Amino acid sequence: MSHPFDVLVVGAGHAGCEAALAAARMGRVTGLVTLSADSIARMSCNPAIGGLAKGHVVREIDALGGEMGRAADACGIQFRLLNRTRGPAVRGPRAQQDSALYHRTLRAAVEACARLTVVEGEVAALETEAARIAGVRLADGRQLSARTVVLTTGTFLRGVLHTGRAQTPGGRVGEPPSASLSASLASLGFPVLRFKTGTPPRLLRASVDLARFDAQPGDDDPTFFSELTERALLPQVSCHVAYTGESVHRIVRENLAHSPLYSGAIQGRGPRYCPSLEDKVVRFADRERHQIFIEPEGLDSPLLYLNGFSTSLPAEVQLAMVHAVPGLEDAAMVRPGYAVEYDYVRPTELKPTLEAKRVAGLFLAGQINGTTGYEEAAGLGLIAGINAARLAAAEPPFVLRRDEAYLGVLVDDLVTRGTSEPYRLFTSRAEYRLLLGIDTASRRLSGHGAALGLLDADRARRSAARWDAVSAAQKAVPGSIADRLKRTGTAVDDLLHESSVLAALPARDRRILAEDIRFAGYVERQRRTAERVQRSGALTIPEDLAFRNLSGLSNELIEKLEAVRPETLGRAARIDGMTPPALALLAVHIEKARAGRVR
Ligand code: FAD
Repeated sequence: MSHPFDVLVVGAGHAGCEAALAAARMGRVTGLVTLSADSIARMSCNPAIGGLAKGHVVREIDALGGEMGRAADACGIQFRLLNRTRGPAVRGPRAQQDSALYHRTLRAAVEACARLTVVEGEVAALETEAARIAGVRLADGRQLSARTVVLTTGTFLRGVLHTGRAQTPGGRVGEPPSASLSASLASLGFPVLRFKTGTPPRLLRASVDLARFDAQPGDDDPTFFSELTERALLPQVSCHVAYTGESVHRIVRENLAHSPLYSGAIQGRGPRYCPSLEDKVVRFADRERHQIFIEPEGLDSPLLYLNGFSTSLPAEVQLAMVHAVPGLEDAAMVRPGYAVEYDYVRPTELKPTLEAKRVAGLFLAGQINGTTGYEEAAGLGLIAGINAARLAAAEPPFVLRRDEAYLGVLVDDLVTRGTSEPYRLFTSRAEYRLLLGIDTASRRLSGHGAALGLLDADRARRSAARWDAVSAAQKAVPGSIADRLKRTGTAVDDLLHESSVLAALPARDRRILAEDIRFAGYVERQRRTAERVQRSGALTIPEDLAFRNLSGLSNELIEKLEAVRPETLGRAARIDGMTPPALALLAVHIEKARAGRVR
């Protein structure tokens, strides 16, 4: 065996890159095993990062010292703030990406990172010693030993690609699947289940006259992901809007029998909120048309991505469907869309640190946990990388609360409730969303980033100074000005000549201060609720509590409690099907167990 890595990350997708960078930056000797360095941080599907709730996560990743926000800003070719006209809590930044540049940017960051070694190879099996991870074995026979291992294998575990009736083993187009690692997980007792997702066809840009479609430009005043970004670096471009119509829908309906989704060839469940065109035509049969966005894959890329046109029908049917879209009659299809079916591990197998309950030192992050999306993957990767680094150095775990970050909501939902379909984040999943707006990500989390050793000293100092200045200004703003901001909705920039305190703040912080003042009452109420729930939920459940001895609970609930083994009453409360009376019984049982009166 090699000299042990402190942290060994398997897979260099969005989760793997964040995990490896975090661990190495925290001072651990880190390895990153990937099938090929050419596929580091490849965008398997849409050339965009962010969106509702996902944009929040990217801001949080940035505040904690992760990479995705900076990279997405550097590679952004169109920035849009979604929900711009709605309240600050639900606005989400999104940026179209030059996807080839995104890969090169992350690859450069990984290769330049001290203490981080990239190993090309396929991990075939996990090596364990007495229910503790010891390292991995590669398909070519090499063995790598490690104190901790983070698995981030995306859609590759026993991946099968479907286009029509054709089935090809693969993790995504042009890349082989990873079969034996899945068997290794199963042999360790992990429940390995199946999901699917899909991607649309890519068109040749030169074959499409974009002038025939309505252009959708980006915002004039771009909203970035990273606190450090001041301006867009690349030329900005438009996307274009097209529509399907009855002739496209007819082709879909006539060919449903050839769709692996409807022929029974695919068993795994797909993402409800990213449905295939087949699903849209069947489920919304009365809709006359569906919107499609024609998105560039990059500034110089010859490819166009058809957002909203995901399909796994046979290639020749896909071409007929594309040609039936008004404006795309002459389009050349470079690559057909396809669906991919893959294994994931039930996320209730994980602790809130993302460490597996059955194998100490083994962490799982990204799509292998049953999520979809680059942002969810990157966020989970960061949390797993941080915790693997901390465990390797015998430091205590790092867990974010639900009222502290969307990352807290994401992890808690997965490890406590699990998921029966590919999980994506929404603002509606956060009960304390007023506390979690994009503008407060740095205020909420950069202190953690600094304490973890992920933010360099200069950035940590500047973030702290920034939020000190905002809170000092909040105290110093005259009551009459605060009143006008609150009650009359006066724009903050109209008050500059009346308030030197406001005028002294940079424009973006002035707007944050104004919103702090406007929403102070609502925010305070949510904060108090969060504190109350936290106090009652903090009651810890003894690790060896025998839930089966609890009389008065349904068998189903007892099974769920045994499977999840929640650490606290708060976590137990969020288990699917948990009722207030059941929770009260559990609380009493915990007290009795603590007093040694029951087990
Ligand atoms: P990935 O980005 O898949 O990275 C996994 C990495 O692990 C790769 O680098 C791979 O080489 C490596 N790897 C795997 N096995 C091994 C091994 N045994 N040894 C060494 N290295 C290994 N998300 C959406 O939100 N909406 C969509 O519509 C959508 N459509 C998709 C369509 C397709 C066809 C695919 C493939 C994915 C789609 N996704 C979609 C999902 C999105 O791509 C993922 O959510 C995201 O990339 C997950 O990141 P990850 O880091 O978990 O895994």
